[in-house]
Amino acid sequence: MSLLSPAEQLRHFQRRQKEIVETIRQLVELESPSDVKQSVDRVGTVLASRFGELGGKIKVHLAEKHGNHLQIDFRARADKRKPILLLGHMDTVYPIGTISKMPCRVSKGKVFGPGVLDMKAGIALAFHAIEGMLAWNDGRLCWPVTLLLVSDEEVGSASSRPVTEKLAHDASAVLVLEPAYGLPGAVKTARKGVGEYTIQITGVAAHSGLDFEKGQSAVIELAHQILKISKLVDTKAGVTLNVGKASGGTRTNVVPATATASIDVRVASASDIKAIDARLKAMKPENPRCSISITGKINRPPLERTEGVATLYGKAREIASQLGWNLEEAAVGGGSDGNFTAALGIPTLDGLGAVGEGAHAEHESVVIEELPRRAALLAGLIATV
Ligand SMILES: [Zn+2]
Repeated sequence: MSLLSPAEQLRHFQRRQKEIVETIRQLVELESPSDVKQSVDRVGTVLASRFGELGGKIKVHLAEKHGNHLQIDFRARADKRKPILLLGHMDTVYPIGTISKMPCRVSKGKVFGPGVLDMKAGIALAFHAIEGMLAWNDGRLCWPVTLLLVSDEEVGSASSRPVTEKLAHDASAVLVLEPAYGLPGAVKTARKGVGEYTIQITGVAAHSGLDFEKGQSAVIELAHQILKISKLVDTKAGVTLNVGKASGGTRTNVVPATATASIDVRVASASDIKAIDARLKAMKPENPRCSISITGKINRPPLERTEGVATLYGKAREIASQLGWNLEEAAVGGGSDGNFTAALGIPTLDGLGAVGEGAHAEHESVVIEELPRRAALLAGLIATV
């Protein structure tokens, strides 16, 4: 339990605002695209040393293709209690070299840079929240905290998922350092499940002039299938299917023998996963001389607003109100690693990172003035969950 009141904690972070921005800058300037292992590993090494200095015990989960995943454990007075898991990712969507076109800079009260919002600032907030709690608690947290920073979140988390699930399983709650929602800075209490499917059509090629009748167009068949897929959309139930990519054929004078499309599928409720999967996989060709094959799955289950999630939000709201602000909640379409932990039934609150805009875009930025109270919220949650 902290000796400082929430208002005093907030003032602590306000005094540390410059240092928080400097930590963000240090992390942003180390570029870390998901597909460049050695770059992500460099961020991991820097973070291991910084968190190590705070007294965190470092465990590296080796990964072959992507960067290693970094686990940092902080012991505590009440060491028998299950740890709280803080969840973040070190990778970004920006290729190496982006920093020269999009340098990390401070302007009009914001920090700009590749990956600043999603989610280098979230990692910085976790660092300074823990640093603050240690400082005002004589160097020990009230209960154990585990921080997991993965390296492949932006590309689906295939290699980190087992680590995330194992640590979540042993945790009392999961706090996700993904950006807050919108400029009011809402936390995320529901996220859709996300999947990707590919549909492949095989028809029969023929010369479009000499043998038109012998051809069976895979492109026409794909067009029929796309319309059928669009009829599976149910926005009220939170089910969306987006054929985001479609291609087929070789030349204009050839009846196309192949066509393919990629479909982004999102569901709000876990109960829709099986139904959508079954309906997609049962699709039959309109033209019996074409064949279709559909592969894929929902790989991130939805984060549903369970009682556990709502209770966590209630605590966060209470802490925010002590800091003088009304913390809103939001349901969003995008997935995060919080989807995995919530699906295991572990209370999960997402969107506890920085406030800003432009994730994955050129104007990606974080509002500096919001940083102290986000750090105070995080510290408050760690102390009360
Ligand atoms: Zn993210």
